[in-house]
Amino acid sequence: MKLVFATNNLNKLKEVQEMLPESIELLSLKDIGCFEDIEETATTLEGNAKIKANHITENYQYNCFADDTGLEVEALNGDPGVYSARYAGEPANAENNMQKLLDNLKVTSNREAQFRTSICLNLDGKQFLFDGICKGQILTERKGEKGFGYDPIFQPEGYESSFAQMSSIEKNKISHRGLAIEKLIDFLKNY
Ligand code: IMP
Repeated sequence: MKLVFATNNLNKLKEVQEMLPESIELLSLKDIGCFEDIEETATTLEGNAKIKANHITENYQYNCFADDTGLEVEALNGDPGVYSARYAGEPANAENNMQKLLDNLKVTSNREAQFRTSICLNLDGKQFLFDGICKGQILTERKGEKGFGYDPIFQPEGYESSFAQMSSIEKNKISHRGLAIEKLIDFLKNY
């Protein structure tokens, strides 16, 4: 079966392909000739994952899944959430996003946060949702050089290092995206 992963991130694509049974061939947006920008206009992660998956199913007639991730900070009532990529405005910039978050948390001692990934799978006319959560704390300063986005200031629960101090293998085992993808893969293996 051919299955589109609505992404152009080849690292994500390779990682998921390696976890899937050989009977499932994963295709990227580029592989199916989808070069248009799919606007993520929803106010929830689930909503954006659905928009992306539905765009592919409706316009390209492929089975497809799409993901969307946000960092939800307790003291900020769940912000930046669905707006994580552009928290500090356009163009998206990880340094500015982290700085804005650190500044906004100066007035509170509550540093509880979680990353959440939502995956929407459109398969044979049906829709399925999967999610993955990684709880942790926002650090007071950046730690580590690896990863991307908010990794230097996020320390997962039960660990002494930030995501940016972990190898990608170590991070994927416990991360929001890793957990959501694991649920998706279990589902596909038993389908
Ligand atoms: P996306 O939906 O995977 O594109 O994620 C949206 C935004 O959330 C990214 O631009 C990052 O700012 C942030 N983000 C998502 N996943 C991670 C992660 O694993 N570590 C750090 N930041 C992340």
